[in-house]
Amino acid sequence: MRGPDLSTKFTISLEEAFNGVTKPITLSREVVCRSCQGTGAEASTTCSSCKGAGSVKQSRGIFRMSQPCTTCQGLGRVITKACKTCGGRGNTISAETIKVKIPPGADTGSRVRLKGMGGTRSGGGPAGDLFIELTVRPHPVFKREGNNIYVDVPVTFTDAVLGGKIKVPTLSGDVTMTLPPGTDSGKKFKLKGKGIPNRKTGVRGDEFAVIKILVPKNVSSKAKEALEEIDKAYKR
Ligand SMILES: [Zn+2]
Ligand SMILES: [Zn+2]
Repeated sequence: MRGPDLSTKFTISLEEAFNGVTKPITLSREVVCRSCQGTGAEASTTCSSCKGAGSVKQSRGIFRMSQPCTTCQGLGRVITKACKTCGGRGNTISAETIKVKIPPGADTGSRVRLKGMGGTRSGGGPAGDLFIELTVRPHPVFKREGNNIYVDVPVTFTDAVLGGKIKVPTLSGDVTMTLPPGTDSGKKFKLKGKGIPNRKTGVRGDEFAVIKILVPKNVSSKAKEALEEIDKAYKR
C-alpha cells in the first residue's frame, strides 16, 4: 500500500518568488535498516519449533492443519542477536537533506510536489508524496496584486511640476523613468513586464509606479515667496 502524503510549510521572500529559489529541506523518515535489511537481526538461527518452515502442522482428529509458528512469528528464524543499528526494530530514522526547487512565480498558497518523498507504510509499498505549501512574506516596498507589483515613488515637488528623471525600484533593480512635467500625486505609471512571472507561462506581470509628491516641511522665506508665486498658477 502506498504511504501517506505529507505536507510542510515554507515561507519565502518576494524576491525569491520573483527569481525562483532552491532551498534545502531536511526530511526525517523511517527507512528499512541497511545493516539488517529490515530483519532486525545481527545473528539468527533456524527456528527449532518449525525447523525453519515458519509453520507447524497440527493434527485435530482427522484434520491436519498448518498454522504459523508462534515461536518465530512465521519467519522461520529466531534472532539470537539484535541488530545494533536499529536495536532489532528493522527500521531506522534517516535524516536526509534534499534541495527543493521553487520555480519563479510562486504565490502564497502555491504548492510544490515532491514525488515519493512522503511517508511509507510498514510492510513496504511506494512512499507517498511530500507537498510544500508556500507563503510569500509581505515586502516593505513592493505590494503584490496577482502578478502585478505596486510601488510608491516619492518625488520632489519640483520634479512633479517641472518633470525630470526619477529612480524607480523594481524587483530586478532600479530603473530610471522620465517624469512628465505637471505630474499629479497618485498618478500611476506602468512599467511593462517588471512584475512577477506567471508560474506556468513565464509571462511577466507589470509594475505600477505610484507617484507620491513630497511636501517640504521647512521652507525659507525666499522659497515661500516662490511658492506664493506658484500658487497663482492654480488660480489661472
Ligand atoms: Zn537493523
Ligand atoms: Zn518457527
